[in-house]
Amino acid sequence: MRKRQIILNADEIPKQWYNILADIKMNPPLGPDGNPVSPDQLAPVFPMNLIEQEVSDQRWIDIPDEVLDVLSLWRPAPLVRAYNLEKALGTPAHIYYKNETVSPAGSHKPNTAVPQAYYNKVFGIKKITTETGAGQWGSALSFACSQFGLECKVFMVRISFDQKPYRKSMMAAWGGKCIPSPSTETKAGREALERDPDTPGSLGIAISEAIEAAVTDESGETRYSLGSVLNHVMLHQTIIGLEAKKQMEIAGEYPDIIIGCAGGGSNFAGLAFPFVHDKINGKQIEIYPVEPAGCPTLTRAPFVYDHGDTARYTPLLPMYSLGHAFVPPPVHAGGLRYHGMAPTVSQLVNEGMLTARSVGQQKAYEAGVLVARSEGIIPAPETTHALACVVEEALKAKEEGKEKVILFNWSGHGLLDLAAYDAFFEGNIKDFAQTDEELEASEKIFADFPKPANIKSR
Ligand SMILES: *Cc1c(COP(=O)(O)O)cnc(C)c1O
Repeated sequence: MRKRQIILNADEIPKQWYNILADIKMNPPLGPDGNPVSPDQLAPVFPMNLIEQEVSDQRWIDIPDEVLDVLSLWRPAPLVRAYNLEKALGTPAHIYYKNETVSPAGSHKPNTAVPQAYYNKVFGIKKITTETGAGQWGSALSFACSQFGLECKVFMVRISFDQKPYRKSMMAAWGGKCIPSPSTETKAGREALERDPDTPGSLGIAISEAIEAAVTDESGETRYSLGSVLNHVMLHQTIIGLEAKKQMEIAGEYPDIIIGCAGGGSNFAGLAFPFVHDKINGKQIEIYPVEPAGCPTLTRAPFVYDHGDTARYTPLLPMYSLGHAFVPPPVHAGGLRYHGMAPTVSQLVNEGMLTARSVGQQKAYEAGVLVARSEGIIPAPETTHALACVVEEALKAKEEGKEKVILFNWSGHGLLDLAAYDAFFEGNIKDFAQTDEELEASEKIFADFPKPANIKSR
């Protein structure tokens, strides 16, 4: 029997994360006064042990035993050779994927939710606040908090709260408290409701509410948590790529091409960064973050300083940005509807280490259905964007008659996103694209901010 799954033993789980900040140079995040943000300024928002990770340039960081113990509920995750997809495409390429759908929440997000909950717990924090759009992050954090006996409060964008009941049910099952945003519990929420009592809400407002709820809690025992974008989130996700490296070695192959979908950048970075380390040291690899054409941050926006949230609570981050007030079109891949991108991913794109791609929704779902019918797992709408790029590269390898090795990240399953598949089957999936003028208008918002330096790490 051919070997489809490459499984690591429990004791082969990586014991350290890889920190890309040891190998690249970055523009610093800037505070409201235009100066680099000091760790102390972030202390009301995050616990100091996570802030230390956020700014660390130590290449390898130990994963605490208590974190490994929870991750071992589903990790090491399988590496799978996609034989059926190869056959369906008639390609000589060897296609492999990391299966991140096997976590309790069904995506890669618990890889960072678990260590974040742990570090908050050991710092003496009792309650974590966060925001969620479609609910993937809120459910992952609720799961993680349940493992460490922490309270979890999730501000969920009103329209998703009403339209997507099942991730709310998952949060409840894990003991998380999910409320629709805007709410009357915060000043930011009350103001938003005063402006428009029937507002559908937005991620920007929900972030403002979650941060406000954390910093105004007088007990001092509440902090805020973010599920993507920040350096420590990318760090925690590198367990994906570190496992994949060991597994590719067992398979006796090394990837020519690495692909992941990119919203805030975390599942992509998690798979890619350990291989970027090799690329920095001379390996030849093509590495592609893939985003929706309707939210074209890396492929059409400039590399600038901008805020991570609409309410401008966050420091200015050096990243590709469509503007902090950009309202993305209603693409079904909720996890890819973000105006910015992880500063680390942005820096590497800016240096030419990574080559960003974009695909329309129609092509993404065509690939998603093809892959569901060959490999079996129904992909999350976010993952289908990576799949469209995988299919394209596999067909290119066929045309060129090359036995390329392609590795991609299967970031999550789509079992709670079946309405999007129904829309696709009914012919109701739209492709979105902004005109240059529309993008220029939304990018005016950072015109007066400082500009990041064009740093080359080597
Ligand atoms: C949240 C999510 C994403 C996008 O977030 P990143 O930080 O870019 O990884 C992608 N896929 C799935 C399944 C998600 O839940």
